[in-house]
Amino acid sequence: MNKKNYTMEKIKMTTPLVEMDGDEMTRILWKMIKDELILPFVDLKTEYYDLGLPYRDKTADQVTVDSANATKKYGVAVKCATITPNVQRMSEYNLHEMWKSPNGTIRAMLDGTVFRTPITIPSIHPAVKFWKKPITIARHAYGDVYRDVELQVNEPGVAKLVFEGESGKKEEVVVHEFKGPGVLMGQHNLDKSIRSFAHSCFQYALSVKQTIWFATKDTISKKYDGRFKAIFEEVFQEYKERFDAAGIEYFYTLIDDAVARVMRSEGGFIWACKNYDGDVMSDMVSTAFGSLAMMTSVLVSPDGKYEYEAAHGTVTRHYYKYLKGEETSTNPMATIFAWSGAFRKRGELDNLPELVNYADQLEAACFDTLNAGLVTKDLVNLMEGITPKALTSLEFLRAIRERLAARLGA
Ligand code: NAP
Ligand code: MG
Repeated sequence: MNKKNYTMEKIKMTTPLVEMDGDEMTRILWKMIKDELILPFVDLKTEYYDLGLPYRDKTADQVTVDSANATKKYGVAVKCATITPNVQRMSEYNLHEMWKSPNGTIRAMLDGTVFRTPITIPSIHPAVKFWKKPITIARHAYGDVYRDVELQVNEPGVAKLVFEGESGKKEEVVVHEFKGPGVLMGQHNLDKSIRSFAHSCFQYALSVKQTIWFATKDTISKKYDGRFKAIFEEVFQEYKERFDAAGIEYFYTLIDDAVARVMRSEGGFIWACKNYDGDVMSDMVSTAFGSLAMMTSVLVSPDGKYEYEAAHGTVTRHYYKYLKGEETSTNPMATIFAWSGAFRKRGELDNLPELVNYADQLEAACFDTLNAGLVTKDLVNLMEGITPKALTSLEFLRAIRERLAARLGA
């Protein structure tokens, strides 16, 4: 395609975004998105961290730590999908060590919560016919069954839960008097972690101006789930006025009631879940909305730092095709929305309405393109009431670029 010289002046930034590059097909898309949709329009400022596996290996994963620290410093990051090494990757990339998941490292350093939201369009109907707007799921990422201890009991006997305080105080309750074989489990959580989770949830709700739901089973689990409910209620007091001003609500109910209400709802809210509920419900909600390639994700820390990314991985199968010289039709939507989310947040924090507008127009140009039936292959069989045309990734990005330029008057 001929490289047009746009006449508009490029949109200015003041604070850099923390840019975390990644691996495989998404690394290829990353560059294409910058070349086609960002650099022609924005005077881009980023602090660049290469989280691609070769450089993580070269720096003994220090680059991941540095990128998380930069996110703490600047407040807004945008991340490309990255490989979490396994045995097969050790030999494929000749690694010194099986480095930990970058997402895990960054989440732990920011003490953050992940919010996942589907990108929805009119021609892709959710499996639940009532849903008109996206539902965002927030999953508490610490404790409960994921950090449990378990025993299989093979004879009659007594199981007890014992706490020995450092002060010398001892508490003991009988779990069960076994008359025969059975199973046993101990779980825990921490006030600190629940409190961070609550802060991240309320911060994010305010940021997107959406009502937030939280649910547990505190009628049965009066102390354990009751503690979650109480901490959320207590933390909410700090946000109540800002919620009122924004016209949004915090709504608490029982988990089974929440599930029933979610199915009957129109969507358009955030659903905060305990660890296990979030694991299960996020798979249900994302599948019901359509495609993994259309799922965005943002990590939010309790003190309001944001890291935007796509929920999918590095799309390895497409990358191997790309390496053979084939043009692929990998869907860049979630990665584009990671960038637009980051630009919008940066624009809001730095009071740059033009940058916020660019983010809005970029998303709108994506919707214009999809609604014109110009899509990547993964969406073809999901669309109804429209005859879609499958494009390669690059063709798709150029179709968006054309519409974006028109919208920006470039
Ligand atoms: P994946 O990269 O999400 O891809 C799984 C499959 O989903 C693909 O093979 C493709 O199906 C489809 N898909 C996902 N994203 C797509 C897109 N944008 N456009 C079109 N189709 C898309 O998951 P994976 O294959 O399990 O993992 C690959 C690597 O990614 C792993 O090394 C893993 O560690 C890493 N990963 C990273 C993150 C992250 O950084 N946040 C998250 C998950 C996984 P078809 O092949 O049928 O077209
Ligand atoms: Mg799961």
